[in-house]
Amino acid sequence: MKTQQILSLNAFQPGETAGLADDVAVLVERRKRSFGASSVLFYQQPLHVVQASGALIRTADGADYLDLYNNVPSVGHCHPKVVEAVQKQVALLNCHTRYLFDNVHDYAERLLATFPVPLSNLALTCTGSESNDLALRIVAMATGGTGFIVTQTAYHGNTTAVTEVSPSSYKVGAPPKHVRTVPAPDPRAFPGDLGAGFAQAVRDAIAALEADGIPFAGLLVDSIFSSDGVFADPPGFLKEAVDAVHAAGGLFIADEVQPGFGRTGSGMWGFARHGVVPDVVTMGKPMGNGIPMGGVVTRPELLKGYCDAFGYFNTFGGNPVAAAAGLAVLDVIEEEGLIAHAARVGAHITERLNAARARCPAIGAVRGAGLYLGVEIVAQGEADADGATRLINALRERRILIGAAGPLGHVLKVRPPLCLSLDQADRFVDAVEAILTPG
Ligand code: PMP
Repeated sequence: MKTQQILSLNAFQPGETAGLADDVAVLVERRKRSFGASSVLFYQQPLHVVQASGALIRTADGADYLDLYNNVPSVGHCHPKVVEAVQKQVALLNCHTRYLFDNVHDYAERLLATFPVPLSNLALTCTGSESNDLALRIVAMATGGTGFIVTQTAYHGNTTAVTEVSPSSYKVGAPPKHVRTVPAPDPRAFPGDLGAGFAQAVRDAIAALEADGIPFAGLLVDSIFSSDGVFADPPGFLKEAVDAVHAAGGLFIADEVQPGFGRTGSGMWGFARHGVVPDVVTMGKPMGNGIPMGGVVTRPELLKGYCDAFGYFNTFGGNPVAAAAGLAVLDVIEEEGLIAHAARVGAHITERLNAARARCPAIGAVRGAGLYLGVEIVAQGEADADGATRLINALRERRILIGAAGPLGHVLKVRPPLCLSLDQADRFVDAVEAILTPG
C-alpha cells in the first residue's frame, strides 16, 4: 500500500473547486494567489471558520463543528481565562525578554516544577520546530556527534535541520545519511517484547551510523508517536531504548509537542509514562493555547555547553504575552482537572469504539493514551486509507472534525481539546458507528 506524505493527508486538491459555496470559493482563490504552493488546506470542501469556544468551531454559515482534531487550543478554544490573561498583558506590556519581568519568571518556575529534578533550565521559543532545532544543536554540541535516530514516519518540524529528522516530510528523496530511522514501536513490527525489539532497532541504527563513520548524537522521538500512527503501550517500552542510547554515549530528546501538557491523561508529560528522564524535552503547540509558544527544557550543563559556543536568543520566545497565556494554561489544566478528565474521556471513547467493532468491522485497533488516540480503519483486516478518508469526510458532513495519521494514512487521529465532554465524545462515537455500520 502507498505511503502518504504527512501534509497530503485529507488535503484539499486545488483545481477541484466545483460545488464550493461562493464565500469558500473566493477565499480558496485568494489563498491560492497569496500562498501559492505552500497552501495546505483540509477537506475537499474547505471550512470557512469564524469563531470557536470549548470543543466547538463555528463556520461562516453559522454551523457548529465538534472539534476532535485540534490540540493547540488544548484547554478549549478561546478559553475565557486565557483570553483574559492575554488581553490584560497585551494592554500592559509586550516586548522581547532581555529585561526583567514578573510573569515570565513566574511562568518559567511553574513550568520547570512539572519536570523531574535534573531538568531545571528552560529556553523559550515560538514553535515546536524551533524547539527541536535547538534541541538537536544542544545534543550535537554535548556529544560531539552528528548522527540522529528517529522513527520511520516521524515529524518534528520545518527548519532545515528538523526537516532532515522528519522522514514524513519528504515527498521526494529521503533524509540524509546522518539520520537513521527505526520502525515505529508497533507491536506488529516487534512481536514479543516490544521494548526489547525497539531498543534493538535503536542499537542497530547506532551501529549502522558508526559503521559509516558518523558519530552518534542522539535519539529523538515524539513520546506518543503521533505521526507514526499513535503508539503508547505498554507504558515503559521506551526505557530500554533510552538506556541503549545512553550506553552508546548518546542523548535522548523527548518531543512533547503532541503529548505534552496533560493530554495523555497521566501527568503532564508523555515521557513520564515510560519511566524515563530525557536529556532534552521539547514543547510547543498546546503550551499557549494558540499563542505561539514553544520551549526546550534540559539540564543546565547541556544548555551551557551550547550557549558557551553560540548563545541563544529568541526575540519573541517567552514574551510577556506568551507567558501570560502559558500561565493561564497551567492554571486551567489544574483548576479544571483536565489530566484526569482526558484519562476519563479517552477511556470512554476507547471502550465504546472497541464495543462498536462487533457491528463495524472497519474499526481496527484502538490505541493511545488519554485524549490522544489512534483508531485503525481497516478493510478485511488490512489498512484502508481510502476508508479513513471517506470516514473523515462523512464525519465532516455530520459536523465533526478529525484527521488521520500513520505511514499509510489509515489511522484516525483522535486529538480534541482536552475539555471535550462525555456527551461530545458520545456524539463522535455515535457518528462513527452510524457511518461504519454496514447497511
Ligand atoms: N514535533 C511534533 C511531534 C509535531 O507534531 C510538530 C507539529 N505538527 C512539531 C514538532 C513542529 O511544531 P511547529 O509546527 O509548532 O513548528
